[in-house]
Amino acid sequence: MKISLRMRLTASYVLVTIVCVFLISILMNALLEKQFRLYTIHNQELSNQEMLNLIKNQYNNGSWNHDVIENIGIGYLERGMIIKVSDVHNRIIWDAAVHNNGLCKQMLDDMSKNMNKYYPNWSGKYKTKSYPVYHDESKIGTVIVGYYGPFYYNNTDIGFIYTLKNRILIFAFIFSLFFAQIMGIFMAQILSRPIARVVRAAESISKGYFKNRVDEKSNTKEIYILISTINNMAKTLESHKVLKERMSDDIAHELRTPLATLQSHMEAMIDGIWEPDKKRLQSYYEEIIRITSLVNQLGMLGKYQNSKLNRIKYDLCEQIKNVIFNFQAEFKNKEVRIKFHGNKCYISAEKDKISQVIVNLMSNALKYTPKGGIVIINLKGTSNTAEISVKDTGIGISDDDIPFIFDRFYRADKSRNRLTGGNGIGLAITKTIVELHGGKIIVKSRVNEGSEFVVSLPINI
Ligand code: ADP
Repeated sequence: MKISLRMRLTASYVLVTIVCVFLISILMNALLEKQFRLYTIHNQELSNQEMLNLIKNQYNNGSWNHDVIENIGIGYLERGMIIKVSDVHNRIIWDAAVHNNGLCKQMLDDMSKNMNKYYPNWSGKYKTKSYPVYHDESKIGTVIVGYYGPFYYNNTDIGFIYTLKNRILIFAFIFSLFFAQIMGIFMAQILSRPIARVVRAAESISKGYFKNRVDEKSNTKEIYILISTINNMAKTLESHKVLKERMSDDIAHELRTPLATLQSHMEAMIDGIWEPDKKRLQSYYEEIIRITSLVNQLGMLGKYQNSKLNRIKYDLCEQIKNVIFNFQAEFKNKEVRIKFHGNKCYISAEKDKISQVIVNLMSNALKYTPKGGIVIINLKGTSNTAEISVKDTGIGISDDDIPFIFDRFYRADKSRNRLTGGNGIGLAITKTIVELHGGKIIVKSRVNEGSEFVVSLPINI
């Protein structure tokens, strides 16, 4: 069974409250009792001192005022103190036990019962404390105070402790439970609302609605990260979807025209309108070769976009020299000169892919440079990058075209490109490979003056 966040939070708050109230009640019991006991003992001593002062004041010119002492004794007897006053010769002036022994016994009995009622293990008993009484620094008598000890709680004290311990705790407990529930619901609301929205958005994204975004704001770090992650995921999926759709459109568009032309020409031959002569067949054959190369290059682009690198350490200079060597005949045929400047430069990269980059740039340079032109290749190595520049004196690229030449199927001059056999994929592949290696490719060009493509690759040794 899945438990909702709201339920979980409320339950945990309630649990924390119960534990806290329980701990507080234990602490309160222990501390409160102890403090109150000390307070009562201290109070008893204060009462004793107060009573002593009252009795002391009844001594005048060597004699005691018996009547007032009796009144004081009765007063204190009613408060639970059994007093016995004697003079300096130990002659009894007043004794509560003599005055009303029954009442004394009754009182001690009540006290014992009272204490035992609230504290069943109580071990209190009758205690006495003797105080000498002085007048002008000479002893004039003794007061013995008897009380129920070590301490005694009267009904008011017990009522006070009971209220503090039980009523306040019960009230605090009920209030905390109520507050915990409110807090649980409130916190769950704060946490679950954005999560619920994220869930809804994730559900619709999983159904293919990649345009959906979570517009919920949250100050909770984890929820903020979750929202950003879901939104980024939706953005990536959306761009992949757009890319896929555009790719399908582009491919259909690129293939439809030549295939339709081939189809109509073939139909004309089948219907006997055109003769299937060698020249026509040759032209169709070349078109088929072009379409095949387009399909192959598309396959390559798709493969590169999703591939992992198989890096090895090798000399880039040596690799460029080899590619130049393989191109020599083509350059010579077109009467375009080729020059290379560069020294040993070791990089860690996937050799075949980098080879593809050099081939693409060199074949473009050759393709778009007229007879008599020159292509200069430079290799510069620094401590952390290798820079390959392929510069030609060709037709150049207009400022309007430059931002798009790395896009798939983009051709600066479609009519001319069809003649040169270009299909606008070479630079897209080149850029993909360079970026896969963590590098960059830029182009500087002027129409009718030439172009320079510069590839920077991290050495990654
Ligand atoms: P293509 O197969 O058409 O050459 P690319 O992706 O290699 O495809 O190049 C895209 C476009 O960029 C080309 O059609 C061309 O217009 C332009 N271009 C690329 N390299 C050069 C260059 N060295 N000189 C002039 N234009 C170039």
